[in-house]
Parts: sequence; C-alpha cells; structure tokens
Amino acid sequence: MAVESQAQPGGGAPAYSLTTFESLLAWGRKYSLYPFTFATACCGIEVMAVLGTHYDASRFGAEVVRFSPRQADVLLVAGTINYKMAPVLKRIYQQMLEPKWVVSMGACACSGGFYNNYSVLQGIDQILPVDVYIPGCPPTPESVIDAIVNLQKLIETGAPRAAERWAAEGRTV
Ligand code: SF4
Repeated sequence: MAVESQAQPGGGAPAYSLTTFESLLAWGRKYSLYPFTFATACCGIEVMAVLGTHYDASRFGAEVVRFSPRQADVLLVAGTINYKMAPVLKRIYQQMLEPKWVVSMGACACSGGFYNNYSVLQGIDQILPVDVYIPGCPPTPESVIDAIVNLQKLIETGAPRAAERWAAEGRTV
C-alpha cells in the first residue's frame, strides 16, 4: 500500500500518514481472497495440500474457501475440463462476486494437458478470462502459493484484470 508518512520532530511514531482510498481498498482485497475451487481431477489434491497446515494458505489471507460462487472472488480451476463441463464452469464464473479473478492450475486447465482429444477443452482461457496460470502436472503446492502471491501483486498494483481486458476486446463469458 502506498503510504506517505510525516515523522514527528522528536522522532517516534509518524504524526500522520496519507494514502488513497484505492490503495487502502486494494490492500484489504489483497489479504482477503475468497477462493472457490473447481477441482475435477488430480490437481485438486494439491489444492488440499495448500490449504492444510503444512503449506497454510491462511498466511496469505486466502484460506477461507467458499462453497458457493456467490461468496467467492477467486475461481481456482484445478483439473481437466471437458466440453460437457464447460457450460457449468462458465455458469459458476457468472455467479461470482465482482471484482473476480481466475487462476488456471495445472497443464490440463491451462492447455488440456495430454488429453488432446475430441472431448477436452484445450485450455480454460477459451471460455474464461484467466489472470494467473500455474504450470505443472501437478503443480507443486509452492507454485500454487506463488500464484496467490502473484495475484496479490496484481491486486495491489491495480493491474487490469483479465476480465477487463476481455471486456475491452468485446469478449464476454
Ligand atoms: S495437470 Fe496433471 S495432475 Fe493436474 S489434473 Fe491434469 S493430469 Fe492431473
């Protein structure tokens, strides 16, 4: 958060601090992510590890997983998405709160992985605006945490969300 402080003449705590409302809001959002995990395959197991005590996503303010998309602002897609499942995933995204972000976890979600066949979507970014990609099969818990931290940086800096870039291009979900 961008903060300007004015020190007291005799030292000690700053007499006052200045920031902007947008900076304060971004700082709060950054540390209060509400993920909705859409796990369809083995990558989901790694998500469970991230949320457990060993890797402890709560250190990053992202441990309160919601089971309703209406209470979530981060869609974490972990696993293979086939064409039959795609409309369900889109519907879940549409039900989520604004502003919202999408994280694509693992080779399957990012590109279809090794399921290059008639039934599997070759990357969820064909149907959803993806903000952060996590490579790997499966990605390690550390790389999922890295994605959370990268998402926090995007939020803090006010970088345009993928959904905003889609909107600018006239694309809709
Ligand atoms: S990327 Fe690998 S680990 Fe993840 S869902 Fe696909 S096959 Fe499973």
